[in-house]
Amino acid sequence: YPSMPQWLRQRALLTPDRLAMETAHEELSFKQLYARARQAAGGLRDAGVCCGDHVASLQGNTLDCAVTVYALMLLGAVMVPLNTRLSPMELAGQINESSSRILISDRDNAATADQAVTGADCAIIDVAALTQTAALFDDHEAEIRLTDPCTVIFTSGTTGRPKGVVLTYGNHWWNANGSLINLGLQQSDMWLCCVPLFHVSGLSILMKSIIYGMPVYLMKKFDPEQVNQLLMNGKATHISVVASMLRRMMAITGPNSYPSSLRCILLGGGPVPTALLQSCLDQQMPIYQTYGMSETASQAVTLPPEYMRKKSGSAGKPLFPLQIRIEADGRTAMPNEPGDILIKGLTVFSHYLRNKEATAAAFEGDWFRSGDIGYLDEDGFLFVLDRRKDLIISGGENVYPAEVESVLNGCEEIERAGVIGIPDQEWGRVPVAFVSLNEGAYLSEAELITTCKTQLAAYKVPKRIFVLDELPENASHKLLRRNLYAIYEKMTH
Ligand code: AMP
Ligand code: MG
Ligand code: MG
Repeated sequence: YPSMPQWLRQRALLTPDRLAMETAHEELSFKQLYARARQAAGGLRDAGVCCGDHVASLQGNTLDCAVTVYALMLLGAVMVPLNTRLSPMELAGQINESSSRILISDRDNAATADQAVTGADCAIIDVAALTQTAALFDDHEAEIRLTDPCTVIFTSGTTGRPKGVVLTYGNHWWNANGSLINLGLQQSDMWLCCVPLFHVSGLSILMKSIIYGMPVYLMKKFDPEQVNQLLMNGKATHISVVASMLRRMMAITGPNSYPSSLRCILLGGGPVPTALLQSCLDQQMPIYQTYGMSETASQAVTLPPEYMRKKSGSAGKPLFPLQIRIEADGRTAMPNEPGDILIKGLTVFSHYLRNKEATAAAFEGDWFRSGDIGYLDEDGFLFVLDRRKDLIISGGENVYPAEVESVLNGCEEIERAGVIGIPDQEWGRVPVAFVSLNEGAYLSEAELITTCKTQLAAYKVPKRIFVLDELPENASHKLLRRNLYAIYEKMTH
């Protein structure tokens, strides 16, 4: 395969003085960003990181984290960004699974990082120390091969065991270019990044920045007021959000308050409530609804604002490098007929890390089985139906019932557990659990919730845990999860 210039180095050569990244405290040109990345790469090289190594990262949305991403790319190492909201136990599993021997952490996450590597063959590097190396990394021979792995992002599976999604440079390249073909690029463009850099949504903004030569405003923690200010004063022209973020932004603005400098609100990560869409329509906001996932290097399907009214509720059409197919009963579905959503194209991931079984199950030739259900209408617009194998999307984070159930089932007192997602004003859905206890056992709801808190990320902890005499099951004793919805209704009304 032919190679191409190292992205950041090429960017620093082409537009050295253009603004690359801004935070509340700092501004960096591409030349400065490149220098920082080479410095950090020098530090990582001194710590023993080699081309091809998996290196985990547990960091917030900081400049240092962005520099880490670019530094690892300079080294040809594969970054494994970890979700800072996970419990130490969950993190340890992903460090192990990815064979990361180094974990780069920032001060905010240092204590969690320590707990996560206990007993593992993995050293912690404080990101602040990376820039103190003497010699810059010499990258004059660094090139990029689009077939090489670039990142591994963990995504929960239906079985509860997270899968490492291996994305290549080519996947990121075509995602950035697919979005560019869709949105175009203007001199004044600046993308506001207030989604996590450990998700593909944030990571993909960093890729766009160096490929396009476009500045990114990096926000450490999503703050709706600050976000609105950056959009109102015309500084940021693009932003990526999930529905709960957009709702919070709109709750504190008056009608028609966003200026025309705001070119794109990329709205994805899960279904969007109709009421929210309606108020966006009323205010003529430049909403680009999007459907995508870690496995497709972020957005795969997008609905431009001009179709928001006519195709309300649709996720739109595929980006240029992608195709969508709906499969029902093993054949291509008719228009408007629901079925499995399959995706094919240049942004579709390479494989699940060391998980041949899951990889084989996910692919049918070049077609990727997304696991989601939906239909294409007669004009080719995709509608995603909200019933992917019980997936609970809570404020843009995914929770699979199986991973919460397995923690509950691990409790000595618990005979059986079932978890469902119930609608929630603020987060879209939140997990709620039902358990039956072993004979003679007793545990209060508070005790059950405390148990979950020690082992699960906070957003996965059930908001309520109900104790039942027995859980609904079918003749072969399989849990009838869907019957739990009716039981929930009965118990709360
Ligand atoms: P993740 O890989 O964690 O980003 O999760 C991706 C999943 O989020 C998809 O497989 C869908 O189930 C869901 N999702 C993303 N975008 C949408 C959307 N526009 N409508 C409905 N579900 C979505
Ligand atoms: Mg996923
Ligand atoms: Mg998501």
